[in-house]
Amino acid sequence: MKLLDGKTAIITGAASPRGLGKATALLFAQHGARVAILDLDMDEASEAAADLPGQGHQGFVCDVTDRAACMVVAEEVIAQFGHVDIVVNNAGITQPLKLMDIQPDNYDAVLDVNLRGTLYMSQALIPHFRARQNGSIVNMSSVSAQRGGGIFGGPHYSAAKAGILGLTKAMARELAPDGVRANAICPGFIDTDITAGKLTNDMRAQVLAGIPLGRAGTAQDVAGCCLFLASDLSAYVTGSEVDVNGGSLI
Ligand code: NAD
Repeated sequence: MKLLDGKTAIITGAASPRGLGKATALLFAQHGARVAILDLDMDEASEAAADLPGQGHQGFVCDVTDRAACMVVAEEVIAQFGHVDIVVNNAGITQPLKLMDIQPDNYDAVLDVNLRGTLYMSQALIPHFRARQNGSIVNMSSVSAQRGGGIFGGPHYSAAKAGILGLTKAMARELAPDGVRANAICPGFIDTDITAGKLTNDMRAQVLAGIPLGRAGTAQDVAGCCLFLASDLSAYVTGSEVDVNGGSLI
C-alpha cells in the first residue's frame, strides 16, 4: 500500500520543470496519487502531467489570482477525478525589490499570486472537503516570512508569505471540526528556476555558509515534506509551519 493510494491532488504552479510543484507532483504520483497540475500555460501543464508515472494525471490552465477560474477548475477536477483529497497551494512569484522601490502594482502582483491565490484555490475546494469530512491543504510559505527577507524576495514577498502563515493557522482552526487540515511549509534556499543563476559564486558560498547542513535544498527535499503533510502520516498535524531550510534558523 502506497502512502497516497486512492487519493487525488491539485497542485498549483506545478508545470515549472525544476520547480517545487513539479517535484511534489512526481513524488505524489510515485506514491499512488492521481494529480491535477495547474499552471498558467495549458501546454506546459499537460506536458508536466504526461511526465508523471501512473495513469490519469492531467494538466489544467488556471491563474490562481482569478477566483472564478479557481472555482471552475476545482469543479472540473472534481468532476473528472471523482473527488479531491489534497491541495498544494504552491504557485508563487517574487520580485527582488527594496522597500522604497515597491510600487502599488508590484505589491498587487506579489500579494495576488502568493496570498490571494492561496485563499482562492482553497475556497474553491473547502465545500468539497467539508462535505467529505476530509482534506489536506498544504500552503507554500518561505523562510522570507520568518526572517523578514531572503536572498531574492522583496519585503512584499515576505509580507505575502507571512500572510500565508496567518491564513494557514486560521484555516486550520476553522476547518478542524470538519476533519480538514491545513499546514504551511517554509522552504529555505532551494535550487529551482526562481533561484537559478541569480547569485555569483561568492554570494552562493556566503549563503551556504549560513546553512548548518552546508548545502542548498533540492525540490525533492520540499516534496518530501509535502508528501508527509498531504498523507495520513500527518493525521494529527494541523496549523503547523514546517521549516525545510537545512537549519538556517537555528
Ligand atoms: P518556479 O518559478 O519554478 O515555479 C512557480 C510556478 O508558479 C511556475 O510554474 C509559474 O508558472 C507558476 N505561477 C506563477 N504565477 C501563477 C499564477 N498566477 N497562477 C498559477 N500559476 C502561477 O518557483 P519554485 O521555486 O518552484 O517555487 C514554488 C513555490 O515555493 C513558490 O510559492 C515560491 O515562492 C516558494 N518558495 C521557493 C523557494 C526557493 O528557494 N525556490 C524558497 C521558498 C519558497
